[in-house]
Amino acid sequence: MDFAIPESVRPLLAKARAFVDEKLVPREIAWLAAPFKSLEPELAALRAEVKRAGMWLPQAPRELGGVGLGLVEHGLLSEVLGRTPFGHYAFGCQAPDAGNLEILHKYGSDAQKRQWLEPLARGEIRSCFSMTEPDTAGSNPTELACRARRDGDDFVIDGRKWFTTAADGAAFAIVMAVTEPDAPPHARASQIIVPAGTPGFDIVRNIPVMGHPGEGWASHAEIAYRGARVPQANLLGPAGAGFLIAQERLGPGRIHHCMRWLGICQRAFDMLCTRAATRRLDGDKTLAHKQIIQAWIAEARAEINAARLMVLDAAWKIENVGFAAARVDVSLIKFHTAGVMMRVVDRAIQAHGALGITSDTVLSFFYAHERGARIYDGPDEVHKVTAARRILAAYEGPARSK
Ligand SMILES: Cc1cc2nc3c(=O)[nH]c(=O)nc-3n(C[C@H](O)[C@H](O)[C@H](O)COP(=O)(O)OP(=O)(O)OC[C@H]3O[C@@H](n4cnc5c(N)ncnc54)[C@H](O)[C@@H]3O)c2cc1C
Repeated sequence: MDFAIPESVRPLLAKARAFVDEKLVPREIAWLAAPFKSLEPELAALRAEVKRAGMWLPQAPRELGGVGLGLVEHGLLSEVLGRTPFGHYAFGCQAPDAGNLEILHKYGSDAQKRQWLEPLARGEIRSCFSMTEPDTAGSNPTELACRARRDGDDFVIDGRKWFTTAADGAAFAIVMAVTEPDAPPHARASQIIVPAGTPGFDIVRNIPVMGHPGEGWASHAEIAYRGARVPQANLLGPAGAGFLIAQERLGPGRIHHCMRWLGICQRAFDMLCTRAATRRLDGDKTLAHKQIIQAWIAEARAEINAARLMVLDAAWKIENVGFAAARVDVSLIKFHTAGVMMRVVDRAIQAHGALGITSDTVLSFFYAHERGARIYDGPDEVHKVTAARRILAAYEGPARSK
């Protein structure tokens, strides 16, 4: 396997890196302190620049106005964009829209594509994905309680969801609801498009995360579905295929998340090293002279390099062999990379002393808002159990008697 950065993507990576460093990083502290909706005009102007530079929607096919990058290529770009909390948004490949775009493209009817996919791809509207519920275990979505019952030509949806990222201001939600209650557990739920403004689609609140409720794209909402009525034509994909589609949505998404986290790792590592090299402790002696700091730096570098190779290896396997061959790898990178990120950010904060926990650097944002990485798209424990089961299967079975 070849982990050299493909020639085809080098100019784009360099251009994106320059854009991130020159246009986004210098503004991020001010942006993080402001309500998200107040930033939208400035961010829209930057998105227009990204479009003019041919970098918009990097992961999407060209027919949608995207760049059409492959999994490894977009992973490498995602690493560049991950250096700042605004990178993916500026380039139009932010969660949850990127995943929704993918499933609308694959499963949407012509009418759904015209109404929702096309404006989403142009960045004119935003969307959200509404699966997790406060009262049932998100780690086991076969327990979903939200119901969509058929009534004439419509679905009537009742249930309670939370952690619906970016629901505030979204034009539509894709909701996972039980439509086939008598089917086997994995065939009970379907995905249904619910336009914002549908009576009975009520955003109860933006949930405070580590004290910050956020707003707009940078928020996670609790939503009450109270008899929300939508046409059955809003069904996305086949009835009962909700889990299948959700899995497809999460698969490549985990590679993108891991590469984004590696971008965060590299940013925090750069800050750790800069601080170590410049913070004077005693005369000319900087923090970098202390062996304990040197050990953090060496350990962090080793952990980042190792995680990066694991993620690229998994992406390479998915692209060249197929997703089924990479299932264990994807579980391993999901929990491992999230853990590496948390440790590197924590060390960088420690090296900054009190400054590290202020909002004067981006580190405290990463510490608070990336902690969720160990929970969403499968908590650490679920991935560990899943990977271990698959690994152990090769050692178990009647044939193995010794
Ligand atoms: C920042 C963030 C954004 C999110 N965005 C969205 C979104 O846009 N849309 C959406 O629908 N959801 C979203 N979620 C929700 C996320 O998908 C769920 O939080 C996740 O699936 C876990 O479900 P839960 O919170 O109900 O935890 P639970 O299922 O209650 O699990 C709680 C804990 O139990 C442990 N655990 C669970 N299962 C096992 C097991 N099999 N073995 C051992 N231990 C186990 C784990 O430690 C886990 O963290 C988001 C979450 C976060 C943090």
